[in-house]
Amino acid sequence: MLKKDKVRSAYIHIPFCNNICSYCDFCKLLYNKKIVSNYLEELAKEISLIYQGEELKTIYIGGGTPSALSVEELETLFKILTRLNRSKELEYTIEGNFESTTKEKLLLYKKYGINRLSFGLESISNKNLQFLERTVIKQQVEEVIKKARELGFNNINIDLMYALPTETENDLNIDLDYILFLNVEHISTYSLIIEPHTKLSIKSVKNIDEDLDFKMYNLICEKLKLNNYFHYEISNFSKNGFQSKHNLCYWNNQEYYGFGLGASSYLNNCRINNTKSINKYLEGNFFLNKDFLSEEDKIEYEIMLNLRKNEGINLEKFREKFGRELNSIYNYYSLLKDGFLIEKDNYLFIPEEKWYISNEIIIRIIEGEVDG
Ligand code: SF4
Repeated sequence: MLKKDKVRSAYIHIPFCNNICSYCDFCKLLYNKKIVSNYLEELAKEISLIYQGEELKTIYIGGGTPSALSVEELETLFKILTRLNRSKELEYTIEGNFESTTKEKLLLYKKYGINRLSFGLESISNKNLQFLERTVIKQQVEEVIKKARELGFNNINIDLMYALPTETENDLNIDLDYILFLNVEHISTYSLIIEPHTKLSIKSVKNIDEDLDFKMYNLICEKLKLNNYFHYEISNFSKNGFQSKHNLCYWNNQEYYGFGLGASSYLNNCRINNTKSINKYLEGNFFLNKDFLSEEDKIEYEIMLNLRKNEGINLEKFREKFGRELNSIYNYYSLLKDGFLIEKDNYLFIPEEKWYISNEIIIRIIEGEVDG
């Protein structure tokens, strides 16, 4: 019998951007004042319809570029979100870019209890920014960080993108040095993947060679660890105590709300996807599809997500949640023997030097189903 936890997290999607980046396959649209106003009205309705009043430990406003909204629009959004019941230790994050984050917006964030800022920087090299069709200059970055610090924000994330066809290892080193200079609490890294229907894919740009991607990944891991960042998830690094609680909710395979265009929820054993059509969303047709997860699906998610973390799967919690031992479902003995998995103190994890091939390891676990 599956044991169920209460929902403790909510994601809110703000799909508006001032500019569309060349690699983007997220659910986004160009900023338009009229649409923003209608969107916020519908968002409020969706929340009223779905939210059951649980006390939340994390709220994450992502995008898109939430900071692309004006101060007035952001205030409307924060007022809507005050209907979410918050725990005292709430982690409340908003994403944005440096170009559109002003002192006024930072003050507003403070007023409404935001305590974590997440910025898409991606690179500081002009050549690579041009390739990504992004614009930011060091002065903007440093001014925003300085203002944020003055206002007391002590939990800041920066996104870094690597494996760009225009990028050299030296460029990556320069980006890493710059982010280290900014001295933020959390760094999320993304290897560029050229997704279908993006501007890059239309131009037939190809992903870089896998060996170089691996080299760049190792460079990031080594450099950040050397500078006291804790590598707690395949692509995420933090200073001590600053892991993203919101993302840990996903990686711990816990349920969460997802509100807004194209958002996904995980509620009552169902993965629910919202529509990506702005017209449908504005007509109040929020939902696209709903997948009910069998116990087997849930177990597979539990493995896939938990093994992304350095601590891996807590085998005792697994037993409590599913009423069975993991090794009674999958035979992963040969992976343990060959060093692809380690079992220690009731945790099962992939050693860090094998994270780059974690997908293959996870597939081998699932293929080793005892009854399969
Ligand atoms: S800012 Fe983010 S969401 Fe907007 S276009 Fe660029 S990558 Fe896409």
